Amino acid sequence: MPEPKYVFVTGGVTSSLGKGIISASLAKLLQARGLNTTIQKFDPYINVDPGTLNPYEHGECYVTDDGAETDLDLGHYERFLNVKTSQANNVTTGRIYQSVIEKERRGDFLGKTVQVIPHITNEIKERMQLLGKTGKYDVVITEIGGTVGDIESLPYIEAVRQLRWDLGKNNCVVIHLTLIPYLSAAGELKTKPTQHSVKTLMESGINADVLVCRTEYELSEDLRNKLALFCNVEREAVIQSLDADTIYDVPLMMFEEGLDKVVLERLGMERNEKPDLTHWKGFLQRHKNPKSKVTIGLIGKYVELQDSYKSILEAFVHAGAANEVHVEVMPLHSEHIEEGNAVDQISNLDGVLVAPGFGERGIEGKINAIRYVRENNIPFFGICLGMQMAVIEFARNVLKLKKANSVEMDENTPHPVISLMEAQKDIVQKGGTMRLGAWLCDIKPDTVLQTTYNTLQIEERHRHRYEFNDSYLKQFENHGMVASGINPETGLVEAIELPHNNWFVGVQYHPEYSSTVANPHPLFVAFVQAVNAYAQSKK
Ligand code: GLN
Repeated sequence: MPEPKYVFVTGGVTSSLGKGIISASLAKLLQARGLNTTIQKFDPYINVDPGTLNPYEHGECYVTDDGAETDLDLGHYERFLNVKTSQANNVTTGRIYQSVIEKERRGDFLGKTVQVIPHITNEIKERMQLLGKTGKYDVVITEIGGTVGDIESLPYIEAVRQLRWDLGKNNCVVIHLTLIPYLSAAGELKTKPTQHSVKTLMESGINADVLVCRTEYELSEDLRNKLALFCNVEREAVIQSLDADTIYDVPLMMFEEGLDKVVLERLGMERNEKPDLTHWKGFLQRHKNPKSKVTIGLIGKYVELQDSYKSILEAFVHAGAANEVHVEVMPLHSEHIEEGNAVDQISNLDGVLVAPGFGERGIEGKINAIRYVRENNIPFFGICLGMQMAVIEFARNVLKLKKANSVEMDENTPHPVISLMEAQKDIVQKGGTMRLGAWLCDIKPDTVLQTTYNTLQIEERHRHRYEFNDSYLKQFENHGMVASGINPETGLVEAIELPHNNWFVGVQYHPEYSSTVANPHPLFVAFVQAVNAYAQSKK
Protein backbone atom coordinates (compact mmCIF):
# COMPACT_ATOMS: atom_id res chain seq x y z
CA MET A 1 0.00 0.00 0.00
CA PRO A 2 1.49 3.39 -0.93
CA GLU A 3 2.41 5.54 2.05
CA PRO A 4 0.73 8.94 1.99
CA LYS A 5 2.53 12.20 2.53
CA TYR A 6 1.76 14.27 5.61
CA VAL A 7 1.22 18.01 5.94
CA PHE A 8 0.98 19.53 9.42
CA VAL A 9 -0.51 22.95 10.00
CA THR A 10 0.39 24.75 13.22
CA GLY A 11 -0.63 28.21 14.37
CA GLY A 12 1.41 30.98 15.91
CA VAL A 13 0.96 34.39 17.58
CA THR A 14 -2.81 34.25 18.05
CA SER A 15 -5.82 32.02 17.56
CA SER A 16 -8.52 32.65 14.94
CA LEU A 17 -6.08 33.10 12.05
CA GLY A 18 -8.03 30.61 10.00
CA LYS A 19 -5.96 27.41 10.06
CA GLY A 20 -9.06 25.53 9.01
CA ILE A 21 -9.53 27.67 5.90
CA ILE A 22 -5.84 27.49 4.96
CA SER A 23 -5.86 23.71 5.42
CA ALA A 24 -9.06 23.36 3.42
CA SER A 25 -7.72 25.67 0.69
CA LEU A 26 -4.49 23.71 0.35
CA ALA A 27 -6.48 20.48 0.27
CA LYS A 28 -8.70 21.95 -2.44
CA LEU A 29 -5.67 22.81 -4.58
CA LEU A 30 -4.15 19.36 -4.13
CA GLN A 31 -7.49 17.73 -4.89
CA ALA A 32 -7.80 19.91 -8.01
CA ARG A 33 -4.44 18.51 -9.10
CA GLY A 34 -5.85 15.00 -8.88
CA LEU A 35 -4.47 14.06 -5.47
CA ASN A 36 -6.71 12.28 -2.97
CA THR A 37 -6.49 14.49 0.04
CA THR A 38 -8.07 14.44 3.47
CA ILE A 39 -7.85 16.78 6.44
CA GLN A 40 -8.00 15.96 10.12
CA LYS A 41 -8.06 18.21 13.13
CA PHE A 42 -6.44 17.58 16.52
CA ASP A 43 -7.90 19.74 19.26
CA PRO A 44 -5.96 20.20 22.49
CA TYR A 45 -8.90 20.42 24.90
CA ILE A 46 -10.00 17.81 27.42
CA ASN A 47 -13.61 17.42 26.26
CA VAL A 48 -13.84 14.06 24.51
CA ASP A 49 -15.67 15.83 21.71
CA PRO A 50 -17.22 19.28 21.26
CA GLY A 51 -20.74 17.85 21.58
CA THR A 52 -21.02 18.98 25.18
CA LEU A 53 -19.72 22.49 24.45
CA ASN A 54 -21.91 25.55 24.38
CA PRO A 55 -21.71 27.24 20.93
CA TYR A 56 -20.33 30.35 22.67
CA GLU A 57 -17.16 28.33 23.38
CA HIS A 58 -16.05 27.13 19.95
CA GLY A 59 -18.98 27.91 17.68
CA GLU A 60 -21.17 25.31 16.06
CA CYS A 61 -20.81 21.61 16.70
CA TYR A 62 -20.55 19.93 13.31
CA VAL A 63 -21.95 16.44 12.80
CA THR A 64 -20.60 13.85 10.36
CA ASP A 65 -22.47 11.08 8.58
CA ASP A 66 -21.13 8.52 11.04
CA GLY A 67 -22.53 10.52 13.94
CA ALA A 68 -19.39 12.17 15.29
CA GLU A 69 -19.89 15.52 17.00
CA THR A 70 -16.91 17.51 15.79
CA ASP A 71 -15.17 20.84 15.43
CA LEU A 72 -16.68 23.26 12.92
CA ASP A 73 -13.53 23.17 10.80
CA LEU A 74 -14.63 19.75 9.56
CA GLY A 75 -17.54 21.60 8.01
CA HIS A 76 -15.07 23.70 6.01
CA TYR A 77 -13.24 20.57 4.92
CA GLU A 78 -16.45 19.02 3.58
CA ARG A 79 -17.68 22.25 2.01
CA PHE A 80 -14.39 22.79 0.18
CA LEU A 81 -13.58 19.20 -0.78
CA ASN A 82 -17.07 17.74 -1.18
CA VAL A 83 -15.72 14.62 0.54
CA LYS A 84 -17.29 13.27 3.73
CA THR A 85 -15.37 13.32 6.99
CA SER A 86 -15.83 10.92 9.89
CA GLN A 87 -15.04 10.35 13.55
CA ALA A 88 -11.40 9.76 12.62
CA ASN A 89 -11.04 13.30 11.26
CA ASN A 90 -11.37 15.00 14.65
CA VAL A 91 -9.46 13.94 17.74
CA THR A 92 -9.27 15.78 21.06
CA THR A 93 -6.91 15.48 23.99
CA GLY A 94 -9.87 14.09 25.94
CA ARG A 95 -10.23 11.23 23.46
CA ILE A 96 -6.50 10.53 23.47
CA TYR A 97 -6.37 10.35 27.27
CA GLN A 98 -9.57 8.34 27.42
CA SER A 99 -8.11 5.70 25.18
CA VAL A 100 -4.71 5.63 26.93
CA ILE A 101 -6.43 5.30 30.31
CA GLU A 102 -8.65 2.48 28.99
CA LYS A 103 -5.52 0.69 27.77
CA GLU A 104 -3.88 1.19 31.16
CA ARG A 105 -6.92 -0.29 32.91
CA ARG A 106 -6.84 -3.28 30.58
CA GLY A 107 -3.23 -3.80 31.54
CA ASP A 108 -1.89 -3.17 28.04
CA PHE A 109 1.18 -1.32 29.30
CA LEU A 110 2.54 -4.35 31.17
CA GLY A 111 3.40 -2.68 34.42
CA LYS A 112 5.11 0.36 32.93
CA THR A 113 4.61 3.89 34.26
CA VAL A 114 2.19 5.57 31.83
CA GLN A 115 3.50 8.99 30.77
CA VAL A 116 2.86 11.82 28.34
CA ILE A 117 5.97 10.71 26.50
CA PRO A 118 5.84 8.09 25.08
CA HIS A 119 2.30 6.89 25.79
CA ILE A 120 0.25 9.99 25.00
CA THR A 121 2.49 10.97 22.10
CA ASN A 122 2.34 7.41 20.71
CA GLU A 123 -1.44 7.49 20.84
CA ILE A 124 -1.41 10.85 19.02
CA LYS A 125 1.00 9.52 16.38
CA GLU A 126 -1.12 6.43 15.85
CA ARG A 127 -4.25 8.51 15.37
CA MET A 128 -2.45 10.96 13.09
CA GLN A 129 -1.71 8.05 10.76
CA LEU A 130 -5.08 6.31 11.01
CA LEU A 131 -6.59 7.85 7.88
CA GLY A 132 -3.27 7.62 6.04
CA LYS A 133 -3.14 3.89 6.71
CA THR A 134 -6.47 3.27 4.97
CA GLY A 135 -4.57 3.55 1.67
CA LYS A 136 -7.19 5.96 0.32
CA TYR A 137 -5.13 9.12 0.40
CA ASP A 138 -2.09 10.60 -1.30
CA VAL A 139 -1.89 13.44 1.19
CA VAL A 140 -3.16 13.76 4.76
CA ILE A 141 -3.33 17.30 6.13
CA THR A 142 -3.36 17.55 9.92
CA GLU A 143 -4.43 20.77 11.56
CA ILE A 144 -3.20 21.20 15.12
CA GLY A 145 -5.66 23.29 17.12
CA GLY A 146 -4.47 26.02 19.46
CA THR A 147 -1.34 28.14 19.25
CA VAL A 148 2.29 27.07 19.42
CA GLY A 149 3.60 27.74 22.92
CA ASP A 150 0.37 26.72 24.67
CA ILE A 151 1.00 24.11 27.35
CA GLU A 152 -1.76 21.87 26.04
CA SER A 153 -0.40 21.84 22.47
CA LEU A 154 3.00 20.49 23.53
CA PRO A 155 2.30 16.74 23.18
CA TYR A 156 0.98 17.34 19.66
CA ILE A 157 4.03 19.31 18.60
CA GLU A 158 6.26 16.60 20.05
CA ALA A 159 4.25 13.96 18.17
CA VAL A 160 4.78 15.89 14.92
CA ARG A 161 8.51 16.14 15.65
CA GLN A 162 8.70 12.38 16.18
CA LEU A 163 6.58 11.61 13.12
CA ARG A 164 8.93 13.65 10.94
CA TRP A 165 11.68 11.47 12.28
CA ASP A 166 9.73 8.21 11.82
CA LEU A 167 8.42 8.97 8.33
CA GLY A 168 11.37 10.86 6.93
CA LYS A 169 11.58 14.57 6.37
CA ASN A 170 10.70 14.37 2.68
CA ASN A 171 7.39 12.75 3.57
CA CYS A 172 6.27 15.54 5.90
CA VAL A 173 5.82 19.28 5.62
CA VAL A 174 5.13 21.67 8.47
CA ILE A 175 3.21 24.82 7.60
CA HIS A 176 3.18 27.49 10.26
CA LEU A 177 0.32 29.96 10.05
CA THR A 178 1.19 33.24 11.65
CA LEU A 179 0.18 36.88 11.93
CA ILE A 180 2.08 39.90 10.66
CA PRO A 181 0.41 42.72 12.60
CA TYR A 182 0.23 46.28 11.25
CA LEU A 183 1.05 49.02 13.73
CA SER A 184 -0.83 52.02 12.50
CA ALA A 185 1.09 54.47 14.72
CA ALA A 186 4.36 53.30 13.17
CA GLY A 187 2.77 52.69 9.77
CA GLU A 188 4.59 49.35 9.62
CA LEU A 189 4.02 45.62 9.37
CA LYS A 190 5.86 43.81 12.13
CA THR A 191 7.62 40.45 11.85
CA LYS A 192 8.80 40.05 15.44
CA PRO A 193 5.79 38.05 16.76
CA THR A 194 6.32 35.63 13.87
CA GLN A 195 10.03 35.33 14.58
CA HIS A 196 9.17 34.46 18.16
CA SER A 197 6.56 31.87 17.34
CA VAL A 198 8.90 30.21 14.82
CA LYS A 199 11.53 30.19 17.54
CA THR A 200 9.08 28.56 19.98
CA LEU A 201 8.43 25.88 17.39
CA MET A 202 12.18 25.38 16.98
CA GLU A 203 12.59 24.93 20.73
CA SER A 204 10.34 21.91 20.30
CA GLY A 205 12.60 20.61 17.57
CA ILE A 206 10.52 21.64 14.56
CA ASN A 207 11.75 23.87 11.80
CA ALA A 208 8.74 25.23 9.92
CA ASP A 209 9.04 24.52 6.19
CA VAL A 210 6.45 27.03 5.05
CA LEU A 211 5.17 30.24 6.62
CA VAL A 212 1.68 31.38 5.79
CA CYS A 213 1.46 34.99 6.93
CA ARG A 214 -1.93 36.51 7.68
CA THR A 215 -1.75 40.20 6.98
CA GLU A 216 -3.99 43.16 6.30
CA TYR A 217 -1.48 44.69 3.86
CA GLU A 218 0.73 43.35 1.05
CA LEU A 219 4.08 42.02 2.24
CA SER A 220 6.93 43.81 0.46
CA GLU A 221 9.85 41.93 -1.12
CA ASP A 222 12.08 43.17 1.69
CA LEU A 223 9.74 41.91 4.33
CA ARG A 224 9.45 38.52 2.65
CA ASN A 225 13.24 38.26 2.48
CA LYS A 226 13.54 39.24 6.11
CA LEU A 227 10.97 36.65 7.17
CA ALA A 228 12.74 33.97 5.14
CA LEU A 229 16.15 34.80 6.60
CA PHE A 230 15.12 35.19 10.23
CA CYS A 231 12.66 32.32 10.28
CA ASN A 232 14.95 29.95 8.41
CA VAL A 233 12.62 29.15 5.52
CA GLU A 234 13.18 29.49 1.80
CA ARG A 235 12.06 32.70 0.14
CA GLU A 236 9.31 31.03 -1.92
CA ALA A 237 8.06 29.35 1.25
CA VAL A 238 6.95 32.72 2.63
CA ILE A 239 3.30 32.84 1.63
CA GLN A 240 1.17 35.90 2.07
CA SER A 241 -2.45 35.46 3.12
CA LEU A 242 -4.30 38.74 2.81
CA ASP A 243 -7.76 39.24 4.29
CA ALA A 244 -10.22 37.90 1.75
CA ASP A 245 -13.70 39.04 0.71
CA THR A 246 -14.93 35.50 1.17
CA ILE A 247 -13.32 32.32 2.47
CA TYR A 248 -13.95 30.82 -0.95
CA ASP A 249 -11.38 33.20 -2.46
CA VAL A 250 -8.63 31.70 -0.31
CA PRO A 251 -7.82 28.64 -2.49
CA LEU A 252 -7.27 30.95 -5.48
CA MET A 253 -5.17 33.34 -3.40
CA MET A 254 -3.07 30.45 -2.12
CA PHE A 255 -2.59 29.23 -5.67
CA GLU A 256 -1.40 32.68 -6.75
CA GLU A 257 1.08 32.65 -3.87
CA GLY A 258 2.26 29.13 -4.78
CA LEU A 259 1.38 27.40 -1.52
CA ASP A 260 0.48 24.12 -3.22
CA LYS A 261 3.58 24.29 -5.42
CA VAL A 262 5.98 24.75 -2.53
CA VAL A 263 4.28 21.99 -0.49
CA LEU A 264 4.42 19.54 -3.41
CA GLU A 265 8.09 20.36 -4.04
CA ARG A 266 8.88 19.69 -0.40
CA LEU A 267 7.15 16.35 -0.64
CA GLY A 268 8.85 15.40 -3.90
CA MET A 269 5.48 15.39 -5.67
CA GLU A 270 5.99 18.16 -8.22
CA ARG A 271 3.13 18.43 -10.70
CA ASN A 272 3.28 20.12 -14.08
CA GLU A 273 -0.41 20.42 -14.74
CA LYS A 274 -2.36 23.24 -13.12
CA PRO A 275 -5.14 22.54 -10.67
CA ASP A 276 -8.53 22.31 -12.34
CA LEU A 277 -10.59 24.95 -10.56
CA THR A 278 -13.17 25.55 -13.28
CA HIS A 279 -16.16 24.62 -11.15
CA TRP A 280 -14.86 26.55 -8.15
CA LYS A 281 -14.36 29.68 -10.23
CA GLY A 282 -17.83 29.30 -11.71
CA PHE A 283 -19.26 29.21 -8.20
CA LEU A 284 -17.30 32.33 -7.19
CA GLN A 285 -18.43 34.09 -10.33
CA ARG A 286 -22.09 33.43 -9.47
CA HIS A 287 -21.54 34.27 -5.82
CA LYS A 288 -19.99 37.63 -6.64
CA ASN A 289 -22.37 38.68 -9.40
CA PRO A 290 -25.87 38.20 -8.02
CA LYS A 291 -28.84 39.34 -10.05
CA SER A 292 -31.00 40.14 -7.04
CA LYS A 293 -30.86 40.43 -3.29
CA VAL A 294 -32.97 38.97 -0.48
CA THR A 295 -32.94 39.34 3.28
CA ILE A 296 -33.52 36.28 5.42
CA GLY A 297 -33.97 36.49 9.19
CA LEU A 298 -31.96 33.90 11.10
CA ILE A 299 -33.67 33.46 14.44
CA GLY A 300 -31.64 31.84 17.17
CA LYS A 301 -30.36 32.40 20.66
CA TYR A 302 -26.65 32.41 19.88
CA VAL A 303 -26.78 34.98 17.08
CA GLU A 304 -24.19 37.27 18.71
CA LEU A 305 -21.58 34.75 17.66
CA GLN A 306 -21.53 34.14 13.89
CA ASP A 307 -19.71 30.83 14.28
CA SER A 308 -22.69 29.35 16.15
CA TYR A 309 -24.56 28.92 12.89
CA LYS A 310 -21.58 28.52 10.56
CA SER A 311 -22.97 25.72 8.41
CA ILE A 312 -26.30 27.52 7.95
CA LEU A 313 -24.56 30.72 6.83
CA GLU A 314 -22.36 28.79 4.39
CA ALA A 315 -25.32 26.80 3.06
CA PHE A 316 -26.93 30.17 2.23
CA VAL A 317 -23.79 31.19 0.35
CA HIS A 318 -23.95 27.99 -1.73
CA ALA A 319 -27.69 28.30 -2.32
CA GLY A 320 -27.39 32.02 -3.09
CA ALA A 321 -24.79 31.32 -5.77
CA ALA A 322 -26.93 28.53 -7.23
CA ASN A 323 -29.80 31.02 -7.56
CA GLU A 324 -27.58 33.98 -8.47
CA VAL A 325 -29.08 35.79 -5.50
CA HIS A 326 -27.26 37.68 -2.79
CA VAL A 327 -28.59 36.34 0.50
CA GLU A 328 -28.23 38.79 3.32
CA VAL A 329 -28.71 36.99 6.59
CA MET A 330 -30.16 39.17 9.32
CA PRO A 331 -29.46 37.66 12.75
CA LEU A 332 -32.42 38.09 15.09
CA HIS A 333 -32.17 37.21 18.74
CA SER A 334 -35.06 34.95 19.68
CA GLU A 335 -35.21 36.41 23.19
CA HIS A 336 -36.09 39.81 21.74
CA ILE A 337 -39.07 38.76 19.63
CA GLU A 338 -42.31 39.31 21.47
CA GLU A 339 -45.86 38.91 20.26
CA GLY A 340 -46.28 42.66 19.94
CA ASN A 341 -43.02 43.46 18.14
CA ALA A 342 -42.79 40.48 15.75
CA VAL A 343 -44.31 42.64 13.05
CA ASP A 344 -41.57 45.30 13.32
CA GLN A 345 -38.79 42.76 13.22
CA ILE A 346 -40.12 40.41 10.57
CA SER A 347 -42.53 42.15 8.23
CA ASN A 348 -39.77 43.48 5.96
CA LEU A 349 -37.93 40.19 5.69
CA ASP A 350 -38.18 38.04 2.59
CA GLY A 351 -37.91 34.80 4.53
CA VAL A 352 -37.21 33.39 7.99
CA LEU A 353 -35.10 30.49 9.19
CA VAL A 354 -35.51 29.32 12.76
CA ALA A 355 -32.29 27.73 13.94
CA PRO A 356 -31.50 24.57 15.89
CA GLY A 357 -30.94 24.85 19.62
CA PHE A 358 -31.38 23.44 23.07
CA GLY A 359 -33.23 24.46 26.20
CA GLU A 360 -35.88 26.96 27.08
CA ARG A 361 -34.17 30.30 26.56
CA GLY A 362 -35.66 32.19 23.64
CA ILE A 363 -38.22 29.63 22.55
CA GLU A 364 -41.25 31.88 22.97
CA GLY A 365 -39.58 34.36 20.59
CA LYS A 366 -39.18 31.62 18.03
CA ILE A 367 -42.84 30.66 18.41
CA ASN A 368 -43.96 34.31 18.06
CA ALA A 369 -41.86 34.66 14.92
CA ILE A 370 -43.25 31.48 13.39
CA ARG A 371 -46.80 32.56 14.08
CA TYR A 372 -46.13 35.81 12.27
CA VAL A 373 -44.57 34.19 9.18
CA ARG A 374 -47.24 31.49 9.02
CA GLU A 375 -50.11 33.97 9.24
CA ASN A 376 -48.48 36.38 6.81
CA ASN A 377 -47.35 33.74 4.37
CA ILE A 378 -43.64 34.59 4.50
CA PRO A 379 -41.35 31.71 3.40
CA PHE A 380 -40.24 29.70 6.44
CA PHE A 381 -37.58 27.11 7.04
CA GLY A 382 -37.25 25.44 10.46
CA ILE A 383 -34.29 23.27 11.34
CA CYS A 384 -34.37 20.78 14.21
CA LEU A 385 -35.53 22.91 17.17
CA GLY A 386 -36.87 25.28 14.49
CA MET A 387 -39.14 22.52 13.20
CA GLN A 388 -40.18 21.55 16.71
CA MET A 389 -41.15 25.18 17.40
CA ALA A 390 -43.24 25.24 14.21
CA VAL A 391 -45.10 22.18 15.49
CA ILE A 392 -45.71 23.82 18.88
CA GLU A 393 -46.85 27.08 17.28
CA PHE A 394 -49.34 25.18 15.08
CA ALA A 395 -50.62 23.19 18.07
CA ARG A 396 -51.16 26.32 20.15
CA ASN A 397 -52.64 28.63 17.56
CA VAL A 398 -54.35 26.33 15.05
CA LEU A 399 -55.24 23.22 17.07
CA LYS A 400 -55.96 25.54 20.01
CA LEU A 401 -53.96 23.41 22.43
CA LYS A 402 -52.90 26.52 24.28
CA LYS A 403 -50.38 24.87 26.58
CA ALA A 404 -48.77 22.66 23.94
CA ASN A 405 -45.02 22.39 24.37
CA SER A 406 -41.98 20.17 24.05
CA VAL A 407 -41.22 18.12 27.14
CA GLU A 408 -37.68 19.49 26.81
CA MET A 409 -39.08 22.86 27.91
CA ASP A 410 -41.98 21.76 30.10
CA GLU A 411 -42.00 18.22 31.44
CA ASN A 412 -45.57 18.53 32.66
CA THR A 413 -47.17 20.09 29.60
CA PRO A 414 -50.73 18.76 29.09
CA HIS A 415 -49.99 18.56 25.33
CA PRO A 416 -46.52 17.15 24.71
CA VAL A 417 -46.57 17.58 20.92
CA ILE A 418 -42.79 17.17 21.00
CA SER A 419 -41.75 14.29 23.23
CA LEU A 420 -38.59 12.49 24.24
CA MET A 421 -37.63 9.74 21.81
CA GLU A 422 -38.21 6.24 23.19
CA ALA A 423 -34.53 5.36 22.76
CA GLN A 424 -33.54 8.39 24.85
CA LYS A 425 -35.66 7.60 27.89
CA ASP A 426 -33.07 5.66 29.90
CA ILE A 427 -30.08 7.80 28.94
CA VAL A 428 -28.47 9.82 31.71
CA GLN A 429 -25.05 10.57 30.26
CA LYS A 430 -24.98 13.69 28.06
CA GLY A 431 -21.88 13.19 25.87
CA GLY A 432 -22.42 11.50 22.49
CA THR A 433 -25.84 10.12 23.40
CA MET A 434 -28.20 12.06 21.14
CA ARG A 435 -29.65 10.57 17.96
CA LEU A 436 -26.68 11.39 15.77
CA GLY A 437 -25.52 11.03 12.21
CA ALA A 438 -27.17 9.98 8.97
CA TRP A 439 -30.55 8.24 9.00
CA LEU A 440 -32.89 7.28 6.20
CA CYS A 441 -36.03 9.25 5.54
CA ASP A 442 -38.91 8.31 3.24
CA ILE A 443 -40.46 11.21 1.40
CA LYS A 444 -44.19 11.55 0.87
CA PRO A 445 -45.07 12.02 -2.81
CA ASP A 446 -46.38 15.37 -4.03
CA THR A 447 -44.80 17.42 -1.31
CA VAL A 448 -42.25 20.25 -1.36
CA LEU A 449 -39.71 17.70 -0.15
CA GLN A 450 -40.36 15.41 -3.07
CA THR A 451 -40.12 18.12 -5.73
CA THR A 452 -37.03 19.52 -4.04
CA TYR A 453 -35.03 16.31 -3.67
CA ASN A 454 -36.62 14.68 -6.69
CA THR A 455 -36.48 11.29 -5.01
CA LEU A 456 -38.51 9.31 -2.48
CA GLN A 457 -35.75 8.38 -0.07
CA ILE A 458 -32.97 10.48 1.38
CA GLU A 459 -30.35 10.24 4.10
CA GLU A 460 -29.74 13.23 6.35
CA ARG A 461 -27.76 13.97 9.48
CA HIS A 462 -29.33 14.36 12.90
CA ARG A 463 -28.55 15.68 16.34
CA HIS A 464 -31.49 15.61 18.71
CA ARG A 465 -33.24 13.87 21.61
CA TYR A 466 -36.84 14.96 21.09
CA GLU A 467 -39.30 14.16 18.32
CA PHE A 468 -42.73 14.88 16.91
CA ASN A 469 -45.25 13.04 19.11
CA ASP A 470 -47.05 10.65 16.77
CA SER A 471 -50.20 10.50 18.84
CA TYR A 472 -51.00 14.05 17.69
CA LEU A 473 -50.29 13.41 14.00
CA LYS A 474 -53.92 12.91 12.96
CA GLN A 475 -54.98 16.20 14.57
CA PHE A 476 -52.20 18.06 12.76
CA GLU A 477 -53.08 16.43 9.45
CA ASN A 478 -56.76 17.25 9.86
CA HIS A 479 -55.77 20.90 10.10
CA GLY A 480 -53.54 20.86 7.03
CA MET A 481 -50.03 20.11 8.27
CA VAL A 482 -48.32 17.36 6.25
CA ALA A 483 -45.67 15.01 7.59
CA SER A 484 -43.60 14.89 4.41
CA GLY A 485 -40.63 12.90 5.72
CA ILE A 486 -40.83 9.74 7.83
CA ASN A 487 -38.07 7.47 9.13
CA PRO A 488 -38.80 4.07 7.50
CA GLU A 489 -37.82 2.04 10.58
CA THR A 490 -39.26 3.99 13.49
CA GLY A 491 -42.02 5.98 11.82
CA LEU A 492 -40.46 9.13 13.30
CA VAL A 493 -41.66 12.34 11.65
CA GLU A 494 -38.58 13.90 10.02
CA ALA A 495 -40.20 16.77 8.13
CA ILE A 496 -43.39 18.81 8.18
CA GLU A 497 -44.85 21.28 5.72
CA LEU A 498 -47.88 23.49 5.20
CA PRO A 499 -48.84 22.97 1.56
CA HIS A 500 -51.11 26.00 1.41
CA ASN A 501 -48.41 28.33 2.58
CA ASN A 502 -45.70 29.97 0.59
CA TRP A 503 -42.85 27.49 1.29
CA PHE A 504 -43.28 26.46 4.90
CA VAL A 505 -40.96 23.55 5.71
CA GLY A 506 -39.55 22.21 8.96
CA VAL A 507 -37.01 19.40 9.16
CA GLN A 508 -35.91 17.45 12.20
CA TYR A 509 -32.54 16.81 10.54
CA HIS A 510 -29.70 19.18 9.64
CA PRO A 511 -29.46 19.84 5.89
CA GLU A 512 -26.89 22.59 6.53
CA TYR A 513 -24.17 20.06 7.41
CA SER A 514 -24.15 18.49 3.99
CA SER A 515 -24.24 21.60 1.78
CA THR A 516 -21.01 22.02 -0.19
CA VAL A 517 -19.74 24.30 -2.95
CA ALA A 518 -20.02 21.43 -5.43
CA ASN A 519 -23.38 20.26 -4.07
CA PRO A 520 -25.46 23.07 -2.55
CA HIS A 521 -28.15 21.50 -0.42
CA PRO A 522 -31.40 21.20 -2.42
CA LEU A 523 -33.59 22.44 0.47
CA PHE A 524 -31.50 25.60 0.87
CA VAL A 525 -31.54 26.11 -2.90
CA ALA A 526 -35.33 25.70 -2.99
CA PHE A 527 -35.83 27.94 0.05
CA VAL A 528 -33.72 30.76 -1.44
CA GLN A 529 -35.60 30.36 -4.70
CA ALA A 530 -38.94 30.69 -2.89
CA VAL A 531 -37.64 33.64 -0.87
CA ASN A 532 -36.47 35.34 -4.05
CA ALA A 533 -39.82 34.78 -5.75
CA TYR A 534 -41.58 36.22 -2.70
CA ALA A 535 -39.24 39.23 -2.63
CA GLN A 536 -39.90 39.90 -6.32
CA SER A 537 -43.66 39.56 -5.81
CA LYS A 538 -43.59 42.32 -3.18
CA LYS A 539 -42.05 44.83 -5.56
N1 GLN B 1 -33.25 20.43 21.57
C1 GLN B 1 -33.89 19.71 20.52
C2 GLN B 1 -33.73 18.21 20.67
O1 GLN B 1 -32.85 17.75 21.34
C3 GLN B 1 -33.39 20.17 19.16
C4 GLN B 1 -31.96 19.87 18.93
C5 GLN B 1 -31.37 20.67 17.79
O2 GLN B 1 -31.91 21.68 17.37
N2 GLN B 1 -30.22 20.25 17.31
O3 GLN B 1 -34.47 17.47 20.09
